[in-house]
Formats: sequence, C-alpha cells, structure tokens
Amino acid sequence: MCRGGTDSGLPRHGGGRLVSRAMPDTKHCPNCGGTLQDFRKVTATEESFIAGRVGIKDAPGYWRCANGGCLWVQPYFNQAKGFSLPESFR
Ligand SMILES: [Zn+2]
Repeated sequence: MCRGGTDSGLPRHGGGRLVSRAMPDTKHCPNCGGTLQDFRKVTATEESFIAGRVGIKDAPGYWRCANGGCLWVQPYFNQAKGFSLPESFR
C-alpha cells in the first residue's frame, strides 16, 4: 500500500509564508549596508506619501525594503530614484 510516497511525515518548512498577494523579491538595499534584502510593494499609505515626492504616476511602481524597520523605498528597477521614508513609517 502506498501512503504518502516520498513524503515520509517530515514537516515542510518554507512553504508557509503568504506569497500569493504580492511576490516578494530581493534587492540590494543601501540602507541595510548594500546587503540583499526582501522587498515588497508599498502599501497604499506609503504610496500616497511617495506620490507627493515623485508624482502620482511613478509612486505605484515603488517597492520597500522588508527588513524590519527599514525605510528604504525605490522603483523596482531603479535604485537611483530611491529614498528613505520618514521615521513615522517605521
Ligand atoms: Zn533595507
């Protein structure tokens, strides 16, 4: 009788994080010393602040460093246009 095949009751790690809404991506974050960090799309609140800095048409393309408490945001492919959000976003 075949019960479970190759999956011999081992707990599966790594598949539990919610990734269906917005796929996280990794980028080098200048605020984190240039290390590779997870990035996520900015929230509506963050986006409206960013719109006040870079314009409403560019803001939706911004991503934020997901390294707890980091304030760095940037367009997906353009680190040169990134900046740090104010402390109130921490
Ligand atoms: Zn960072």
